[in-house]
Amino acid sequence: MARLHKGIKFGSFFSIDPTEKSELAVISHAHSDHLRSHIKLIGTPPTVDLARLHYKKFEGVTREYHQKFEIGPASIELAPAGHMLGSAQVIIDWHGERIVYTGDFKLEENYTCPGAAIHSCDVLLIDTTYGMPYYKFPPLSECREKLLEFVTKNIAAEITPVILAYSFGKAQEAMMILKNEGVEMDVYAKAFEAAQIYKAHNIAIDNVFLLNEKPKPGRAVILPPGAFRHVNPRGWGRFRTCFLSGWTLGKKYGSRGGNGYGIPFSDHASFDDIVRYVETARPKRVYTLFGPPDIAEYLNRIGFKAEAVNLDSGNFISRKSAGNMDLFL
Ligand SMILES: [Zn+2]
Repeated sequence: MARLHKGIKFGSFFSIDPTEKSELAVISHAHSDHLRSHIKLIGTPPTVDLARLHYKKFEGVTREYHQKFEIGPASIELAPAGHMLGSAQVIIDWHGERIVYTGDFKLEENYTCPGAAIHSCDVLLIDTTYGMPYYKFPPLSECREKLLEFVTKNIAAEITPVILAYSFGKAQEAMMILKNEGVEMDVYAKAFEAAQIYKAHNIAIDNVFLLNEKPKPGRAVILPPGAFRHVNPRGWGRFRTCFLSGWTLGKKYGSRGGNGYGIPFSDHASFDDIVRYVETARPKRVYTLFGPPDIAEYLNRIGFKAEAVNLDSGNFISRKSAGNMDLFL
């Protein structure tokens, strides 16, 4: 039996992205909301290395993309997810059904990882973080232009450009864009450590320095969102912030004041790409994860059997049922 409860559990054999400490966990990518302190962790080589920045003690087992392996009755393959370096979709053949878990995914290619391909399947568990129609992201090239404009204009005006970007993934995308233009960066410790692992996996990040008390004039700064709660910018002189996130398109972002300027640079699929994935994969059943229930309702209207579910509790989000959910036999 496979079911949702604190991850995707395949009998007693293994779990995918479990949210509790597990004996054997297959991990889609190295973001903290997909990781716990597991006994044994299977992931791509960059994911296992990046996971060590969160947890030290685990047995790491690496699998390359498209290298098939078996656990109990399951035949498993990891495939690029386009979300960050090492991020993987998990394709499982289980008792005659093909199950695909996209993990956090994006179809478009990034500077540090290939885009996700669409995989046909019987059961699809899909990341719908941006499952609202107004999340339509501009192409990456446009985000790049805006970021470069923000950085070069401010440096020319002797104002420090501060880029707010998550330390794993988004920060390294920004680093690649800026180093290609010869910009030097002072970066937050976590993003700096992650960048060393990216470099070890042949991502040509350069011009990156560990941020000390204050940035060097003429450099850009990369910090995680919310860093000013514990980073004191006293003595920095004039600076301006720019938030790199798909959330900057959200209805609430502007009204909350956001963090000032923002670029809708996303590492997740847009609403249209989520729908495109489902229409192309043609699954018999779809479970939408990490997003609003609206996307499941939309998929039902266009002819798919879809439910919004919670990976952690296993509950349906779109109706009031309690308890764990059996997904498939
Ligand atoms: Zn993620």
